[in-house]
Amino acid sequence: MNGFSLKIPPQHWLKAMPKLTFLRLIGILSFLTFFFLLAKPVTSDHLPDPHSKTRVKTIYVILWFDTEDYILPQSDDAALRVAEILTQQGVRATFKIVGEKARTLEKRGRQDVIAALSRHNIGYHSNLHSQQPSPALRLSNMGWEEGVQEFDRTERVGFDEVHRIFGITPVCYGQPGASWAPQSYLALKRWGVPLYLDEGEHVGIDGQPFWYGGMLNVFNMGKNQTRVQLHKAADVDEAKNEFEKIYLRLKNSEGGLVSIYYHPCEFVHQEFWDVVNFAHGANPPAEEWKKPRIKTAQEIEQGYRNFEDYIAYLKSHCDVKFVTGSEVLELYKDDAPRKAFSKEDILKTAGAVQREINYQAWPGFSISPAEIFFLLNSYLAAYLKTQQAPASAGCEFVYGPIRRIETGQQSGSLSWNQLAAACLDVQSALKKNQQIPSEIWVGSHPLSPADYLATLGEAIQQLVTLGKPKMTLSVRHGNFTAEQYVARDCLEIWKWPIFPDGFHSPKIMDLAQLQAWTLKPAVLNK
Ligand SMILES: [Zn+2]
Repeated sequence: MNGFSLKIPPQHWLKAMPKLTFLRLIGILSFLTFFFLLAKPVTSDHLPDPHSKTRVKTIYVILWFDTEDYILPQSDDAALRVAEILTQQGVRATFKIVGEKARTLEKRGRQDVIAALSRHNIGYHSNLHSQQPSPALRLSNMGWEEGVQEFDRTERVGFDEVHRIFGITPVCYGQPGASWAPQSYLALKRWGVPLYLDEGEHVGIDGQPFWYGGMLNVFNMGKNQTRVQLHKAADVDEAKNEFEKIYLRLKNSEGGLVSIYYHPCEFVHQEFWDVVNFAHGANPPAEEWKKPRIKTAQEIEQGYRNFEDYIAYLKSHCDVKFVTGSEVLELYKDDAPRKAFSKEDILKTAGAVQREINYQAWPGFSISPAEIFFLLNSYLAAYLKTQQAPASAGCEFVYGPIRRIETGQQSGSLSWNQLAAACLDVQSALKKNQQIPSEIWVGSHPLSPADYLATLGEAIQQLVTLGKPKMTLSVRHGNFTAEQYVARDCLEIWKWPIFPDGFHSPKIMDLAQLQAWTLKPAVLNK
């Protein structure tokens, strides 16, 4: 119809139309009118618009419990009670268990607690939690590899114990308090843990799940993190209002995930088990551990009632769905490794990295700066091997560099042959180490990964556009901006009463920023 009306002015339609076609048109119009009349009541003002996106958008809620208190025996009962309330309501949560808590439950013969928690998802929450030194303090002066090995040496034991005692491989990890360190990611990946589930301010993208360090992260959920307080009945209305605001905001945008977390011990104690023992770097021996003060029976019941009412309220929304750690992994499954990038896609990406090095959002998936690095380097490496431009290329996960270097001053320009040699050298390192090299050698001159990638982008752009390599290239400055999603080292991100006073770690945050190469938003599967 469009082509027809463009060619002939409207007043000449009937004249221009053969008689038979005209009669057919009348028939079709009557037919359509009949169906329009039939269909009309469905789109009446009184019914929801069937085309409205908000009508079908699901809001997902992940409910998780840091199950950690191995000092106060009543916290075992709290874990049992909370797990049973949820089972009765048909809701599955994720319980992250401390290694020492698992051993303590076993020693106290609490098979009932272990069985009740096992009906939910099981995660891991460090071996000893708040005994000094906690993971970030221990790793605070270490480099990448040393930190990875140290985390593996000190934390693996608790992971294995949780696995043995619960008979389930923990699906996720999250640090004690603010004791976060990027080196934990590689160790966890080697153990087969796919999900980082916790709260903190060290890294994050806009309060929604993201990929970092090769793991899916539900972390730094900020404005999308909420809960009901457990003190008085009025807390429930307040929490409902707060959830309603988050719910409406997500419904009116892309939808997404809400994070709600507790510690079972909060239902029974007046103060945290670790604060009364390990605050400000203290580390008393076990025989001197004090039990925290507990709430009155009435206060405890009020807390459970609030929690039950709140869960029932969340469940009352037909478009709110509770998800476990395992389900979140399915919801945010990463499609990038299965994508074939066409020559046009490569050209687009090669152009983009010359302006800015950051993650890229594609329809239905995203790619991290490290994946872009892998994609473009592999593309050129394949060309160099066959002397033919490949029809497509793919990306693979690799870690970011682990040291910073400045590009040498003498490397203003380079020949095609020098770039080709560097590209093949980098390709071998990517394949062997699954990591972007910290320095890329062009003869005797090192380039930073960002400068190399921007230079590579220009070389590929010319190769694809001209159909042949440009023999002399200039070194470009790479503008790496993904670090904006990682916090700068400051006291605020380390606020946790268990740390020694004034603790902070520029070394950890420097490594964290380098791993911003692996960062990208997680895309909700539609
Ligand atoms: Zn904890």
